[in-house]
Amino acid sequence: MIGQLPFQLKQAEETGLFTGQKVRQVVECQECGKPRCIYANHELTSRQETKLVTMISEDQYTCGGPLIEPGDAFYGVTQCRLNITCGDSIEMPYYSSKFCQEICCYCGEPGERSAEKLKSYKTVLPLCSACKSKGFEPSTARPYGPKKPKNKPKPKK
Ligand SMILES: [Zn+2]
Ligand SMILES: [Zn+2]
Repeated sequence: MIGQLPFQLKQAEETGLFTGQKVRQVVECQECGKPRCIYANHELTSRQETKLVTMISEDQYTCGGPLIEPGDAFYGVTQCRLNITCGDSIEMPYYSSKFCQEICCYCGEPGERSAEKLKSYKTVLPLCSACKSKGFEPSTARPYGPKKPKNKPKPKK
């Protein structure tokens, strides 16, 4: 519930913490198996990273659950989104992070990016064949401007 978000997290949304560059680790939800991003403003030291990975593997993380609780070493250092559920698609920053894999943005199964959509959008998220057959459209972002002067199209091979 948005009204119950801790102040800190609301701030994070506003200060742009939730971007691909700030994804420091990925945690898999025990319920739906989707990877969820763990964000931190600063790059983690290798020691912190090891500790975080251990913590992730020991904790039963589920979407929207508090990965880091008050008192944990990472409290205030790393954050996950709290306003997501298992029904939500994979976070957009995941795909611009170094942890990105070609998985369907809706269900997390292996998927691929639509070549057709890539002609009109810089960002097109992968979609699996199952979701595609259900009529889902891939998430897209950053459409190419309609009036940009184009160089001659490169000859196709
Ligand atoms: Zn989940
Ligand atoms: Zn899918």
